[in-house]
Amino acid sequence: MHTVNFAGLSLAAPLQRALAEKGYTVPSPIQAQAIPVILEGRDLLACAQTGTGKTAAFALPILHQMAHNPRKTFRRGVRCLILTPTRELAVQVMDSFATYGKYTDLKFGMVFGGVSEKPQIKALYSGLDILVATTGRLLDLHQQGHIDLSQVDTLILDEADRMLDMGFIRDIRKIAALVPRQRHTLLFSATMAPEVTQLANSLLNKPVDIRITPESTTADKIDQNVLFVDKRNKPKLLIDLVGNHAANNKGELSLVFSRTKHGARKLAEQLNKAGIEADAIHGNKSQAARQKTLNRFRDGDLPVLVATDVAARGIDVKNITLVINFDLPMEPEAYVHRIGRTARAGESGQALTFCCDDELALLRSVEKLIKNKIPILENHGHHCPVITELYTSGAQTKTVNPQQNRGNSGRGNSGGRGNGGGRGISNRGRSGGSGPRRTEFRPQQRKSTAR
Ligand code: AMP
Repeated sequence: MHTVNFAGLSLAAPLQRALAEKGYTVPSPIQAQAIPVILEGRDLLACAQTGTGKTAAFALPILHQMAHNPRKTFRRGVRCLILTPTRELAVQVMDSFATYGKYTDLKFGMVFGGVSEKPQIKALYSGLDILVATTGRLLDLHQQGHIDLSQVDTLILDEADRMLDMGFIRDIRKIAALVPRQRHTLLFSATMAPEVTQLANSLLNKPVDIRITPESTTADKIDQNVLFVDKRNKPKLLIDLVGNHAANNKGELSLVFSRTKHGARKLAEQLNKAGIEADAIHGNKSQAARQKTLNRFRDGDLPVLVATDVAARGIDVKNITLVINFDLPMEPEAYVHRIGRTARAGESGQALTFCCDDELALLRSVEKLIKNKIPILENHGHHCPVITELYTSGAQTKTVNPQQNRGNSGRGNSGGRGNGGGRGISNRGRSGGSGPRRTEFRPQQRKSTAR
């Protein structure tokens, strides 16, 4: 089933040219499987992890079909509609279409909230082949009469699971009712929760089902660890790890996840105070500000980005080699999305998750979802043994007595750069057992401080 190279997929010459320019010769597994199915005109339900090349998996065949069947665009009309959960992902998807379709004559456009409607309306008036949209702004503009969806022949839902998590089900249903019933529909999702299957059943017509990785598994190439740490020590641990990563891995980027917008802003401030250049993206920032920060990060001018889950969706930046979950996500699926921001396009990466005593239940939910225990990294300056004990004993939540944690306090971590992190961390202690495991820093980075 695996196609050796893109030439074997017989894509239109303008697309082959763009692919050659990008240096892509071999389709990723999702591309090798999905492209022929889409070219045949079949509906598709695809479960693929982030970073697997799923955007090109739908962009290439859709561009191919449109390039081969040119249809005159008409005022306010759209031929292919792509729905994404966030503005960042919309930009990302649009970029992919613009890259792969640069040698075609097709017209692309994008609508999303948080920015002025005017340029978007102007673009719609001339008619578009491909429109990438977030649901809220799309419905707004439709209600105002600026978009005609009656001639849509292809509907694509990208990151459908996330759209459902974000409560967009009603919007999706409204939009589905506005486009013709006779259409080509593709649904991509990182996870296949029952709600996603239910949505797929209602939107897709006898779809081909492609599952690239088993449900809810995390990318193999990501080195994962959990770090038990008292809540008040989390900022210090973050400064240690991120500072060390920046100092030892020049040109590589760190992405830090915070559960709240306020938390993201505060963490960026704390990092800056410690002399580590960082900025935050979250829903309270304007789209322009978010994009500007994201561009700096992508260009390597900003070594550390702090983000909330929603804002981080769609971040596709190559050099992220360290992801830190400053706090555990409320929804276990978000863990998979978060850590998938590293090890993009076949590279390797590291994901470190901070866990304090009241997050043990969340950790267990993640481990249940990924069907794996995340190895415990004890050898850091803020390790809290009490939490390991709580974890091992199976207790759900217990307040940690700071006195009990003395063994690891006072190690002079404020702003220090010697406490490991980044490439300095390895899982040499990994064993086959199912219980928590001990891991250590690589010796050249730091001397062992384990008990
Ligand atoms: P996605 O899963 O669509 O977010 O894509 C992840 C990354 O893989 C993006 O940076 C793409 O540009 C890159 N990519 C997609 N297809 C290929 C390919 N066939 N060969 C190499 N890189 C690719």
